[in-house]
Amino acid sequence: MSVASWIELSERAYATNVATFRSVASGARVGAVLKGNAYGHGLEQTLVLAHTRVDAIYVITPAEALAIRAWESKHGKQRREVLVIGAVSAEDCVELARSQVSVVAADRGFEDTLRALRAAGEKLDVHVHLDTGLGREGFTNAGLEKGEADFFKDARDVVTVKGVLSHFANTEDVTEQDYAKAQLANFDKGVLLLQSRAGVGADVQRHFAASAAALVLPPSRLDVVRVGIAMYGLWPSAETRLSARVVLGTLPVLEPVLSWKSPSQIVKWLSAGSYVGYGCTWKCAADTRVAVLPVGYWDGYPRLASGKAHVLVNGKRCAVLGRVMMNHLIVDVTHAVTDEKPLVATLIGRDGDEAVSAETLSSWAQTIHYETMTRLGPHLRREVVK
Ligand SMILES: *Cc1c(COP(=O)(O)O)cnc(C)c1O
Repeated sequence: MSVASWIELSERAYATNVATFRSVASGARVGAVLKGNAYGHGLEQTLVLAHTRVDAIYVITPAEALAIRAWESKHGKQRREVLVIGAVSAEDCVELARSQVSVVAADRGFEDTLRALRAAGEKLDVHVHLDTGLGREGFTNAGLEKGEADFFKDARDVVTVKGVLSHFANTEDVTEQDYAKAQLANFDKGVLLLQSRAGVGADVQRHFAASAAALVLPPSRLDVVRVGIAMYGLWPSAETRLSARVVLGTLPVLEPVLSWKSPSQIVKWLSAGSYVGYGCTWKCAADTRVAVLPVGYWDGYPRLASGKAHVLVNGKRCAVLGRVMMNHLIVDVTHAVTDEKPLVATLIGRDGDEAVSAETLSSWAQTIHYETMTRLGPHLRREVVK
């Protein structure tokens, strides 16, 4: 076995989080967002957790969707509803149609896809994205009024509009949801426009809420919720956590699914006065027992955490000494162990009474946990534990 850090995914935690959303958003279908290598958790390993538990799967790229179809064939699973919410080319759409993957139509460029589908003789299920105030992908109401999506009316030979969706701009950073409510009003207007101008049926599936809105803005839950970060047991933000307690009356249970651990490469003593790491930014004030861990920013441990971070060994905090390197961390284990035997350090996760959360690691690195998690190296070994 190689000496390398690894990631553990807790199946029990994932099941808990799904149950939380089944209860919070009762009535709505529960979909999981597996983009960004499943927020760094690993697409394949997360499929093991999510595939039978959720009602729909959202990814950003055609490649991710096709990887899900390949995983389903390999493991003899029934095909789940999979929707590509990111950019797709006309050629991608033909291939996705063949694999029964749905795609999002978000702008007038989708007319190219109609031509490609006709040429290939394929039919595609589509969800129309409305830009209700994020300023990102989607038809605006002004665009709809100008007729930008009217082409759907004459596209029924190759396209079935199964859903209409939008995405919130400002639900995580606030405790007042005024902007989100305005977006919801725009959405209702947009759906009516699609119905009157583009021939979209009244029974079309409507979806809008990501994690935060699903938790704190009940009218946003509509027909299905698209839960990303919270399905991995992470709160979108401190504001969302506060608001959820107020809106729901109790704090829903979210359990972090991922732990990140590293074995030691070597445990040894450095004498008082020794320097540690590049730039000699740390000098040992006393004899110091250190563990060299074979993990660094190449693996996704943020270099900006240098000088602030700690890891856990035997339930004790151990400071990261000096700079985070490409492939190494050096941590002070003087008081965490009593000898120089190999040890295991927890970089993210719980050890005894102590925990290092993804949020804490991200705050050391002056970023959000969305970024830290999606930067966890795809090369890291990931295993599902009960
Ligand atoms: C990323 C994303 C989500 C999930 O967001 P979370 O905050 O992680 O729940 C939902 N919908 C769309 C369109 C997204 O891009």
